[in-house]
Amino acid sequence: MPVALFILNTGRSLSQGMYMESEGKWSENYFKTVVAVEMNPNDIKRLGVKDRVKIARNGSSLVALVKPSDRVPEGAIFIPMGPVANFIIDGDTDGVGIPSFKAIEVEAGPAEEPVATLRDILKSLGAKNLDVDALMKDISVQSGEKRVVESVSCPFCGDLCDYLKIEVDGSKIVRNVGGCAVSIAKFLNYHKHRVLEPYVRRGGSLTKVDLDTAIEEAAKILANARYALIYGLSNTCVEAIELAVELAEILRGVVDNTSTVCHGPTVLAIQEVGTVAMTFAPVLHLADVVVFWGSNAREAHANHVSRLVMAMGRFRKGRKDRKLVVVDSRKTMLADMADIFIQVEPGKDLELATALRMALRDLEIESPSVAGVPREKIYELAELMKTARYGALFFGMGVTHTGAKLRNIQAVIKLVQELNEWTKWVLLPMRGHYNVTGANQVSLWLTGYPYAVDFSRGFPRMIPGVTTAVDLLANGDVDAALIIASDPAAHFPRKAVEHLSKIPVIVIDAKWSLTAAFADVIIPAGLVGIECEGTAYRMDGVPIYMKKVVNPPPGVLCDVELLKRLTEKVKSMKGWGE
Ligand code: SF4
Repeated sequence: MPVALFILNTGRSLSQGMYMESEGKWSENYFKTVVAVEMNPNDIKRLGVKDRVKIARNGSSLVALVKPSDRVPEGAIFIPMGPVANFIIDGDTDGVGIPSFKAIEVEAGPAEEPVATLRDILKSLGAKNLDVDALMKDISVQSGEKRVVESVSCPFCGDLCDYLKIEVDGSKIVRNVGGCAVSIAKFLNYHKHRVLEPYVRRGGSLTKVDLDTAIEEAAKILANARYALIYGLSNTCVEAIELAVELAEILRGVVDNTSTVCHGPTVLAIQEVGTVAMTFAPVLHLADVVVFWGSNAREAHANHVSRLVMAMGRFRKGRKDRKLVVVDSRKTMLADMADIFIQVEPGKDLELATALRMALRDLEIESPSVAGVPREKIYELAELMKTARYGALFFGMGVTHTGAKLRNIQAVIKLVQELNEWTKWVLLPMRGHYNVTGANQVSLWLTGYPYAVDFSRGFPRMIPGVTTAVDLLANGDVDAALIIASDPAAHFPRKAVEHLSKIPVIVIDAKWSLTAAFADVIIPAGLVGIECEGTAYRMDGVPIYMKKVVNPPPGVLCDVELLKRLTEKVKSMKGWGE
């Protein structure tokens, strides 16, 4: 069978987000979206691929479905983020804390074997619980009093759109006005595939217990751990994150949030070279040039484009009054809307940003093209940026997830800083989870470090590549894990997930995550922003109040209450505060 080298990129897709929220990560439709590998039709023809492709890297391989796509350049393949993509990503973080999720060299070729299933993957990772279907329940929602809740914040992505109008009929959410497709899927399906009972793993299977027993078991695991990891927190409120940090300190463990695998490199780059921050409002009212670099906001943050590019501002008359530039290695859906699309070679963002900085200063670029972009196009883009009245650059994981990691971001930040010698430019990372910015803020104000905070010496410290969650798991350093409102089994590389099968794991979540397959204790939680109120930070650092729209299911508590009870129990087991 012919096999060729390809550059693998992973990333969000709209259908992955929608199925995740509407049908859950254990559903067939979700898995179908994450097992579909996008490949250029010419590569499919060249290799004689029919409907399946085998992808291999460093001894790991799996068979996936192939989906022809002109959006992917020849020599590259794209897999939506999730358990399939991560199965072939290794746990090496190059001392930065984040694995390379993009621009990775893999082998690919036609396959005759059956396509991998979710259960095959979880089993080979050492999952403890595969029979969760029977435990997955829907809340029985009833019609009743009709209400409209105004100014609701959407608890999905870092845009935290806070202008939704949610129509409720009894305990049913029947309409979401103002939310994007993913937001609608999240609110209208809030009641589906819920964790409604606490479970403890006994005799090899998950056994229903009462909440006190589950908390007692969880506390025992944490109190007996030599070095525990508390991870997640970007899908919960600031008030819960504060408690998780306190618990990590009591345990002398580590508390890390999901920025460790998304914009961790951005945080590190900002610590080194600073930034030129802004809030959304000036972009809406003033920006005449908007650049998205390595971000497919149209699929990952759909309303971001409508509220900051398409909408009327005080001094901008909507889309026609703004130039939209997209820089990406793939012709994304956002690129279809762009006035200028710059297709950069995968993993060459640092080179392109450096060439743009040279072009700004009229320095000669000797090579006819840089990072696959013709020299003339680089000069043209530099000129457009220099002559903008107010420019805004949003960058995504296309920049943070490739080999040069924080060096990419530093180059992009310096480009924007230097543009301010001519005109006004600002930049902002496109934050994924709705409160990942809040997780960084809370961690910073309580410990001085934005993520990966280790308390093992009795004081906080952060060592990227050592105290970061992927490294701690991949190196087998931690001996227990508490996962709150997050799903590392779906988003961490293979080696890190494998360690979850070897240590006791506690999961606090509202829905059945793939990490539940590795759990020894599962505690149900209310959905923050729908069933529980709280505070979250929008991607531009603005704190937003998240309303409660409906009540949590009977007997199910919010993260804040659960963490208070768990912390009290751990304290009493350790003989504190009596
Ligand atoms: S853009 Fe993000 S925050 Fe806004 S409605 Fe869509 S998913 Fe929710």
